[in-house]
Amino acid sequence: MAFVLAPLPFDTQALLPIISQETLEFHYGKHHLGYLNKLNQLIVGTPWEHEESIANIIRGSEGALFNNAAQCWNHDFYWKSLTANETDKVVSQQLLQAIEQSFGSWNGFREQFLSQGSSFFGSGWLWLVHNGSCLELITSSNAQNPLTQSQMFPLMVCDLWEHAYYIDYRNDRANYLKQFFGIINWHFVDQRLGMVQDN
Ligand code: MN
Repeated sequence: MAFVLAPLPFDTQALLPIISQETLEFHYGKHHLGYLNKLNQLIVGTPWEHEESIANIIRGSEGALFNNAAQCWNHDFYWKSLTANETDKVVSQQLLQAIEQSFGSWNGFREQFLSQGSSFFGSGWLWLVHNGSCLELITSSNAQNPLTQSQMFPLMVCDLWEHAYYIDYRNDRANYLKQFFGIINWHFVDQRLGMVQDN
């Protein structure tokens, strides 16, 4: 059984001018698809061949299999973290309170997001997670993700690999982060937070 690429939750022009059609066509259609094709090749003949959950593969593997499985999961989560829909950009009272309790203020949170993402060295990801007691921003290198850390429940992710922004922002990651912040799907984040609180 092969994994299939989930459709993008928006069309390839929906995030203009913040993320171009060319970036989405390469990022989704080449990079993300490439990780998925590689994952499907690598699981053949392994105990994971009939596994239906990419998260289970991530938690139980290492090396190339881990890297490609995690990159598939991370990219799916990245697309869900973005939106072109104005109503999804509205921050609920519940979420605003959680952000204020964890980071002091909305602006404090935004500044930490921008500085942590800008100063991170190399390829990786910037995650908003629930750590078991509060919200926290964490970075991970290469394909690493919070699924392998107990207590860490991901709520949102920003891709810090150059392929995510180089076509549109060249080397200016700080500006990519600033623009990205304006198209975060806070409705999705809120739903994820609700899953933590239901447990
Ligand atoms: Mn990427």
